[in-house]
Amino acid sequence: MLKFLSEQSSPILLMIFLIENCLVTLMALFAGWLTQKLTHKLIESPSRNEVLVCITTNLINTFITYAGFKMWQSGFLVFGFNHSWLIVFDFVLLFLVMDLAMYVLHYGIHHTAVYNKIHKFHHYYSHPKPIDLFVLHPLETVSFGVLWLGIISIYVFNFYAVIIYLIINVVFGIAGHLGTEPLSDKTRNSLLFKYLGSSTFHHNHHADINYNYGFYTNIWDRIFKTYKP
Ligand SMILES: [Zn+2]
Ligand SMILES: [Zn+2]
Repeated sequence: MLKFLSEQSSPILLMIFLIENCLVTLMALFAGWLTQKLTHKLIESPSRNEVLVCITTNLINTFITYAGFKMWQSGFLVFGFNHSWLIVFDFVLLFLVMDLAMYVLHYGIHHTAVYNKIHKFHHYYSHPKPIDLFVLHPLETVSFGVLWLGIISIYVFNFYAVIIYLIINVVFGIAGHLGTEPLSDKTRNSLLFKYLGSSTFHHNHHADINYNYGFYTNIWDRIFKTYKP
């Protein structure tokens, strides 16, 4: 796949990355809609504004994907391609490092003037719906993109681990903005899910902005005393 992409011109690459980003968004929104339907949640359609911002986020993410690809081509980003246990190790490492980095960034945003200027935009809805995952101020989308490219360029991550991480990232993002909890209390309290960020976890952050700054886990919130179950 990377060999095929390497042979394409910049406009074609941008087109491919735009299609890829839009497809991921559409699949994520469909999964969100389906979960809402299965859990009998009243489905609200997105406003015109939300759709426009979602399109803008996709355009920015297309440029971030393109920048990442160019960084890989010029050797600033290096990936491993082994089919080994490293896939699992690198995935867990990336998952935890990104979770901590986003916790710190998210906490910082909420406790400085950046909140009112930028992040308040995402908090416009105290009861989020799936599309709100993509309703972010453009500067916030850019800063998450820079953080992402920065972190994957400081260590040689396994390429397959990165792909799995990107899929899981969307799954958690949509889960957090479902507006409904698909998991039962029993499942959420099981050892496997107890420390992961559930739909309720991020929903509670939208309802009360003083808690739950984590994304994939509630570990950092538990450690830094910002956890609201
Ligand atoms: Zn927030
Ligand atoms: Zn949110």
